[in-house]
Amino acid sequence: MPVTVIAAKPTEEVKGNFRFIDIGVNLTDPVFRGYHHGKRKHDDDLEAMLERSRAAGVKSMIITGGSLHESREALELAKQLGFYATVGCHPTRSKQFDSFKGGPEAYLAALDRLIGENLNGRGRVVAVGECGLDYDRTHFAPPDVQQRHFRSQLALAKKYHLPLFLHSRAAHSDFVTILREEGFGEDGGRGAGANGGVVHSFTGTGEEAVELMDMGFHISVNGCSLKTTDNLAAAKRIRPEKLMLETDAPWCSMTSTHASKQHLTSLPVSLNALYFPPATKPEAFAYGRPVKGRNEPCAIGGVGWVMHRLNEGVPFEKVTEKAWKNTVQLFGLHELTDQ
Ligand SMILES: [Zn+2]
Repeated sequence: MPVTVIAAKPTEEVKGNFRFIDIGVNLTDPVFRGYHHGKRKHDDDLEAMLERSRAAGVKSMIITGGSLHESREALELAKQLGFYATVGCHPTRSKQFDSFKGGPEAYLAALDRLIGENLNGRGRVVAVGECGLDYDRTHFAPPDVQQRHFRSQLALAKKYHLPLFLHSRAAHSDFVTILREEGFGEDGGRGAGANGGVVHSFTGTGEEAVELMDMGFHISVNGCSLKTTDNLAAAKRIRPEKLMLETDAPWCSMTSTHASKQHLTSLPVSLNALYFPPATKPEAFAYGRPVKGRNEPCAIGGVGWVMHRLNEGVPFEKVTEKAWKNTVQLFGLHELTDQ
């Protein structure tokens, strides 16, 4: 019996070269080595995961450093793989400043040294962070602790003229207040010696996005940023020259219950196979197949596709190329230009 294949409409719009830089990926997470919640569930399949990302057009990544220790690991991995890393301390881990031998000054000095030693070449540090505020998870560190150590890390961005890799969750008003007080209120702090930055995994309102963009910051989206209809309305307000894309892998997968799903139904079959290859449960692990529940950088194409659908009439390639250029420019990834 003949089968009718209905092409995603219009077919022309999917022609092109779609390349990505995943600006937020937690590659140091043990889950990419087969450890789920501290237990070995399957073989180390980092290389297979990277192969899937290459097939999906991911040319490079910025590995997130979420603490002093993790930043060291991120840099090491970035050097091995030829990617980039951030150096900083996540708000939920900001208690580490106070428990550190030698106290908060010593912790900051160690971050400072790590940045200073890794500013050039392959696997270099390209941003200070991740840092910011997370009021959804104050059980890890109360707001005053988070604020103190967010503020202190902003000095490193000024000292090294590096962009910020920022995290803001349910804390917008305090977040922008601190940024303003520290000289980041306009043009991403360039007047104060800093170099802008990106608010990653954006989950705020449209008004908040506009305020951050007006302050000179970029906004990066992932599956968590496209979960609800309110999220989609906010994401729609991100200006093209401020857009970046990420997965936040292994977190922030897009699922069938998310509002983003309605826009993924139009993803052409060929791209769907690259961005969302069929996954198996950790228990049924097969080398070369993604693991269910573990997000991967290859899914960045899906994030880009939803942004393309939200920007009606703008070709997919135009959206992905804009995010690419924004990323290369902000983080100074000029060696990627010919990729
Ligand atoms: Zn984050």
